[in-house]
Amino acid sequence: MSKTISLIGLGAMGTALANALLDAGHVTTVWNRTSARADALIARGARLAETVTEAIAASDAIILCLTDYVAVETTVADVGPRLAGKTVVNLTNGRPDEVRAVATRLGASGARYLDGGIMATPPMIGTPDAFILYSGSAQAFEDATEHLATFGQNHYLGEDPVLAAVNDLALLSAMYGLFGGYLHATALAGSVGVTAKQFLPLVEPWLAAMMTALPDYAERIDSGDHARDVMSNLAMQSVAITNIVAASRSQGIDPAFMEPMERLAQKRLAGGFGADEVSGIIEVMRGK
Ligand code: NDP
Repeated sequence: MSKTISLIGLGAMGTALANALLDAGHVTTVWNRTSARADALIARGARLAETVTEAIAASDAIILCLTDYVAVETTVADVGPRLAGKTVVNLTNGRPDEVRAVATRLGASGARYLDGGIMATPPMIGTPDAFILYSGSAQAFEDATEHLATFGQNHYLGEDPVLAAVNDLALLSAMYGLFGGYLHATALAGSVGVTAKQFLPLVEPWLAAMMTALPDYAERIDSGDHARDVMSNLAMQSVAITNIVAASRSQGIDPAFMEPMERLAQKRLAGGFGADEVSGIIEVMRGK
């Protein structure tokens, strides 16, 4: 049997994390601002802490899973000294500046701070499909490993606490780009009477095939060489991108999702890189 663990925050995700800990037989103390949300977990054997201070006192390792860093700051505002010598794992989605501020503050209180980004939905927690990014104190990662392993696959990225949050946001950016592109495409196809279900057998394999371009793009991005062995040059692709925006307008579809891509492509084109691969647009994103 393992050391005890305390979990602060029992929303959809916090509850899934608590259930995974209980499934694995870990002694788990929980606290939530709205205590009724703990009822089902208590019925499963979780211990209820009446206060945040009690939750912290109950365990050497404390997991936070709250809406945002405002909630994190509010929750830990008065308990700084009580975190001395404790491991704090913060699985709340946040921005790098927020992570840095909390890591510095809790570190000054004597806590070992580990930040995390959950790449999973609540039902995925506890399955091999869930993966979680961590960064910050390597000692904290080691100390909490047994508990964290119950959530899914863990990836420790390094000592800088912001690594997990930035990688988390980057992965979500890729996801929202995919979802936004899919929604725009489905709206455009829908403008000529194609239903989403009819469009699906076209768009799914198309996206899967396009994903195979990513290793080549990664090579080009890291080397900065977008000009070698070009198969689909930017000048040609920017015609299609402009056509998408224009066709969307004429079909009564808001082109707002694709307009930034058109602006980026035009800027790269104006820089004289029409013969390069479209991967070169990243240089414009980087302000070059
Ligand atoms: P929920 O909205 O379901 O729960 C939010 C939790 O935060 C509740 O426990 C809530 O308490 C608490 N909370 C909010 N504000 C405060 C405050 N001021 N003081 C104290 N507690 C507060 O969110 P999730 O559980 O879904 O998300 C939690 C974190 O997990 C987020 O950072 C989210 O980005 C991340 N995440 C969520 C995923 C998901 O699919 N759900 C996927 C990946 C990451 P109360 O019950 O009292 O309102």
